[in-house]
Amino acid sequence: MQSAPGGVIPAYVAFGANLGEPVATLRAAAVALAGRPGVELVAGSPIYRTRPIGPPGQPDFANAVGRVRTSLAADALLDVLHAVEAEFGRVRDVRWGPRTLDLDLIWYEGEERSDARLTLPHARAHEREFVLRPLADLDPGLVLRGRTVADWLAALDPQGVEPAGTALM
Ligand code: ATP
Ligand code: CA
Ligand code: CA
Repeated sequence: MQSAPGGVIPAYVAFGANLGEPVATLRAAAVALAGRPGVELVAGSPIYRTRPIGPPGQPDFANAVGRVRTSLAADALLDVLHAVEAEFGRVRDVRWGPRTLDLDLIWYEGEERSDARLTLPHARAHEREFVLRPLADLDPGLVLRGRTVADWLAALDPQGVEPAGTALM
């Protein structure tokens, strides 16, 4: 697997699930991610319960964010996220439809890019309360697209995101 050029790189991963037992899935996915070579999970946010976006009639989501330290390049880290999704039975079908597990790479230090495979920082994270709220719990001063996570969050209308009463780890 490809290595990051500069040693160990901090990154943030967003976790989401809305099928089966979403809270338990997120916590198990955190353990699975932490067990992958080249990935250290150093902090986990509280888990939130979120009204779904996308097709109507879906169950609520559980959402959280994990802080990672990785020796992998961003592309290789995305491969690992897809592998963990697959481990949890993710099938890619309806865009923004229900899923057992969704792992998005929100931010990877020093990487700004947009190509067919990977946009960094994540193209929509800064407009989503279900990403910003748990990210603000870990790192409110993190800058995404020119503004801090705290500032993006303060500018949002509420989107139906409530604490689930437990944490990712
Ligand atoms: P959204 O990106 O709006 O949250 P989604 O998570 O439902 O939607 P997916 O079907 O999981 O979308 O992913 C579609 C593609 O997005 C993936 O195959 C991946 O290559 C690409 N992608 C681009 N940037 C990122 C990123 N930062 N993190 C994860 N996937 C990304
Ligand atoms: Ca997503
Ligand atoms: Ca995704």
